[in-house]
Amino acid sequence: MTDTTSSPPSNTSSAKGTWNWHPELPVTGVPYWAWPMRPLTVLKWLFSNFLQFTDRAAYLVFALVLAFWLHPVTPEQASLSFDWTGWILLRNAIALLVVAGGLHMWFYGFNAQGDTLKYDVRPMPREKHDKYTFGYQTWDNMFYSLASGLPIATAWEILARVMYARGVFVEIEPATSPVWFVLMFPLVTMWQSLHFYVVHRALHWTPLYKHIHALHHRNINPGPWSGISMHPVEHVLYFSTILIFFVLPSHPAHMLFVLFWQLLGAPSGHSGYEAVWAKNKARLGVGGFFHQLHHRYFDCNYGSEEFPLDRWLGTFHDGTREATARMRRRQKPAP
Ligand SMILES: [Zn+2]
Ligand SMILES: [Zn+2]
Repeated sequence: MTDTTSSPPSNTSSAKGTWNWHPELPVTGVPYWAWPMRPLTVLKWLFSNFLQFTDRAAYLVFALVLAFWLHPVTPEQASLSFDWTGWILLRNAIALLVVAGGLHMWFYGFNAQGDTLKYDVRPMPREKHDKYTFGYQTWDNMFYSLASGLPIATAWEILARVMYARGVFVEIEPATSPVWFVLMFPLVTMWQSLHFYVVHRALHWTPLYKHIHALHHRNINPGPWSGISMHPVEHVLYFSTILIFFVLPSHPAHMLFVLFWQLLGAPSGHSGYEAVWAKNKARLGVGGFFHQLHHRYFDCNYGSEEFPLDRWLGTFHDGTREATARMRRRQKPAP
């Protein structure tokens, strides 16, 4: 998420005892909403997030290659058939195994970069515990990601493809609407951020939390397989971002981008590291420090940085000790 390809790893004193590594604090957020507006800063931020070596840029390229070349929407997708839906399931399964499985092996299997750029120095628990399905955190996470997250995300993609093929989703072409086509990529991530806040905040309501969202929070110290380890009801809600295309003219590339940003971006963003580090350089930004704060402190950062509802509604945690103190004060019942 954050580009660190040119930043050396640091371990500032304020991190001691809390974090092994953290980005510059306080977390400054996304410059879309700064006032007065700073167009140049916004452009720089867009460039570093969408067009540099980050997970987001990789999913953008993947969406474009599929939508225009390898797997476009075709007229036959107007009706359901295993001939084409099976390929989508297989492709999403491979993509998820490569991203979540690959990052898990790099960071935790081979321990390829040790604690470099790792947020929480505590190791991911490896011991058996009753709270996990099959006894172990990684197995539990893999089960919910592959048995529920993968088919439900795929079902949303299939629905979207049927809607495009039948003309229910209004399709735009880059040749005729180039500006709208480009603008839609940051816009759909903004929408995803807003949608995530609303769904996620609702899931923290005690009855829903207990029966649904607690499953995701089995991960106090998350890893790549934690990203979409959720209850099936949460999966249905989480991927319902696709519904926006019923009202917003778009291209299938936008739909695929938002889908991958969720299906694959959650695993990379939960990896617990800021970036893949190799040969003394950050090679690929994957960090999700904003959401790592949610897993650590729980009652904060329900959304993501793109749409600042946390700031506006008083649940923003900027990573500093003062923010933790503010959160504790907010939680205290009035005397
Ligand atoms: Zn939560
Ligand atoms: Zn999470």
